[in-house]
Amino acid sequence: MSVETLTFGCRLNIVESEALRAHAGADGRDRIVVNTCAVTAEAGRQARKAIRRIAREQPEAEIVVTGCGAEVETQAYAAMPEVARLVGNGEKLRPEGWSAVGTGPGAIMAVRAADPTRVAAIAGHTRAFVPVQNGCDHRCTFCVIPFGRGPSRSVSVVDVIAQVETIVAHGGREVVLTGVDLTAYGRDLSDAPTSLGTLVRAILRAVPDLARLRLSSIDSVEADDDLLAALAEEERLMPHLHLSLQAGDDLILKRMKRRHSRADAIRFCATARRLRPDLVFGADLIAGFPTETEAQFTRSLELVAECGLTHLHVFPYSPRPETPAARMPPVAPQAIRERAARLRAVGAEALRWHLDAQVGRRLPVLAERGGTGRAEDFTPVRLAAEPEPGTLCAVAIVAHDGARLIAA
Ligand code: SF4
Repeated sequence: MSVETLTFGCRLNIVESEALRAHAGADGRDRIVVNTCAVTAEAGRQARKAIRRIAREQPEAEIVVTGCGAEVETQAYAAMPEVARLVGNGEKLRPEGWSAVGTGPGAIMAVRAADPTRVAAIAGHTRAFVPVQNGCDHRCTFCVIPFGRGPSRSVSVVDVIAQVETIVAHGGREVVLTGVDLTAYGRDLSDAPTSLGTLVRAILRAVPDLARLRLSSIDSVEADDDLLAALAEEERLMPHLHLSLQAGDDLILKRMKRRHSRADAIRFCATARRLRPDLVFGADLIAGFPTETEAQFTRSLELVAECGLTHLHVFPYSPRPETPAARMPPVAPQAIRERAARLRAVGAEALRWHLDAQVGRRLPVLAERGGTGRAEDFTPVRLAAEPEPGTLCAVAIVAHDGARLIAA
């Protein structure tokens, strides 16, 4: 029996591809599982192109499609002669999802329980992603993720700790808590409602051998007080927050149906940095959201300095079918591309400032493959030697190349 996986998209999909293997191969059949993403039209195009290539190269292979694409673009995949079967996003981590009784995509909005994972490590990854939350109850006007992932649901604290313990027992040094709407963690746990901050504390208390705990993207306006307190007091909680900001103008944020204002974002960054002075922010920002004027875009550019952002993920707006934003008056494609380039340039400048400030310092780095690593604030580092991936080492920073630090 062999199960190959091809994964598109986010950290959640990466760890789920690892976790679904046993179920996908339980009946002894050889399969190629394509775990798709639907966040942009391009992600769907890339997955379908890969499926056609696999079918050409391995005509005997049984190709199974799962992931957000299976839920959001069901017909596009079901119509492909190369695809033997679709497995729903809500059943891909369950044995029945791969058996004859599997229902396929379409039931995701009815899923209420989050499936805990129990993987020892993720092939090819030094940092272990631990899913603690799935789905989303928000309806940002540009986003299809809730329709691919279903309602927000949390893995119990006990199951999360068990997963972290398994990773540490297998030599893992850094764990990244991941989800779709991470800051919604715990609200749905009817027997013991809790929060992301409380979970962080519980993990660090229960697993003293865990060297580094990191958070994936959060919604700053939903960050709970316990999370801010943990940031201030827990050294093993990494000084790096990636914020889902999306834009810097209040009217555009309103049209996106985001829950925060420009002032909220600036205030959150100032508060968090006061509590943890070495904190570094990353952020997701969309360029060219429908109706965005030059003046409104300028407020996104200015937000980089006002929040003190360092690691930018810039997304040129790409319409998703059936979303409210896709029905709004669009910005010209040329202007979208041009604005994305300007935002990236401001981001590169901010990163250079940050890198300059690290030169001459001695930093703890988690080594990855190929002589690279990550500092605690997620800054990439080129190492002088090639320590074993997963090794924690203290290195002297002697220079940078505009994108990463260079160690002696
Ligand atoms: S919070 Fe908004 S952008 Fe994020 S997954 Fe939910 S709907 Fe999408």
